[in-house]
Amino acid sequence: MNICRTKQQLRLAIRDAQKHQQTIGFVPTMGYLHEGHASLLREARSDNDVVVLSIFVNPMQFGPNEDLDRYPRDEERDLALAASCGVDIVFLPSVEEMYPKKPLTTIKVEEVTSRLCGASRPGHFDGVGLVVSKLFNIVQPQRAYFGMKDAQQVAVIEQMVQDLDMNVDIVHCPIIREPDGLALSSRNVYLSAKHRMEATTLSKSLNKLHHQLKDNNKMTSDECVAFITNEIITNTSGEIDYVELLHYPSLTAVQDRLSIAESFENQRFIVAVAVKFGTTRLIDNALFQVGEVIERV
Ligand code: AMP
Repeated sequence: MNICRTKQQLRLAIRDAQKHQQTIGFVPTMGYLHEGHASLLREARSDNDVVVLSIFVNPMQFGPNEDLDRYPRDEERDLALAASCGVDIVFLPSVEEMYPKKPLTTIKVEEVTSRLCGASRPGHFDGVGLVVSKLFNIVQPQRAYFGMKDAQQVAVIEQMVQDLDMNVDIVHCPIIREPDGLALSSRNVYLSAKHRMEATTLSKSLNKLHHQLKDNNKMTSDECVAFITNEIITNTSGEIDYVELLHYPSLTAVQDRLSIAESFENQRFIVAVAVKFGTTRLIDNALFQVGEVIERV
C-alpha cells in the first residue's frame, strides 16, 4: 500500500496508474474507519484497477462550535483496515498540505443545501464541496464512492458534479448498521452507555414508519414526521435537531397536505433525522419509493 502525505506524491502515483490505463476508484473519508467505510472500499475494489482512499479531517466543513478538535483519529488502525480492504493508495495530507493558503474560492451548491444539515450546519456543505472538488482534481478518479448515511451529501456532490461537468461517476453505497440497527458512525464512540441504547430509536422509528406506510399509504407527510418525532421524544433523552420528509434527491419540501401516495406518485422521498445525544449529534435516514406499495430503497 502506497502512503502519500503530499499532493506531489499522490500525483506521481496517480500518473503511474493513468499511464497503464488503469481505472481509479476513490473513497474520501475523515478516517477513524469502520465497516461503513470498509463497504465503500470493497465496492471500489471490485469495480476498479486502483483504489485510492483519502483520510482528511477537513476543518473547512466544521462550524466554530463543532467537534473538529475532538474528532476521533487512529491512523494505525485505519491503515490496517485499508490494507485489509485491498486499498492501493492512501492519501493522508496535513491541513497545511491541503490548504497552504486560505482558499478564496467557494463552492456553494444552492437549494439542495437549504434544509437538513445544510440548515443546521451553516457553511458545512461549502466546506465539503471545496474539499471534494480539490480531491477530485488531485485524484482524477473515474468513480467516487459515497455512503447514503449522508444522503444530503450525496445529493450535493451529484449536483456539483453535474453543474461543473466533473468527469466522475458518483456511486451510492447503502447504510451499514450495527446488529441493533444503529448506523455506523465514527462519532458513535462518544455515546454514553445510556445514549448508545437510546440511539437505536432512530433506526427503529424509521423501520416502524415503513411498516405503517405499507399498511396505510394515506398517511400525510406531517403525520409521518409527527410519528418519528413522537418515537424519539418518548424513547430517548436526545434533543431533536430535525425530522423532515422531503423529495429526494431535490430535497424540496412537500407542498401540500396530500397523502404520501398522492404527493410522491412513482417518486422517491427521504425521511431524515438528526438528534443530539449530549454533545454527539447523530444522523440517520430512510429512502422510500412510492409505487403500489411504499418500499424502502
Ligand atoms: P466520513 O468519514 O464520516 O466523512 O465518511 C466517509 C464516507 O463514508 C461518506 O461517504 C459516508 O457517507 C460514508 N459512511 C459513513 N458511515 C457510513 C455507514 N454507516 N454506512 C455507509 N457509508 C458510511
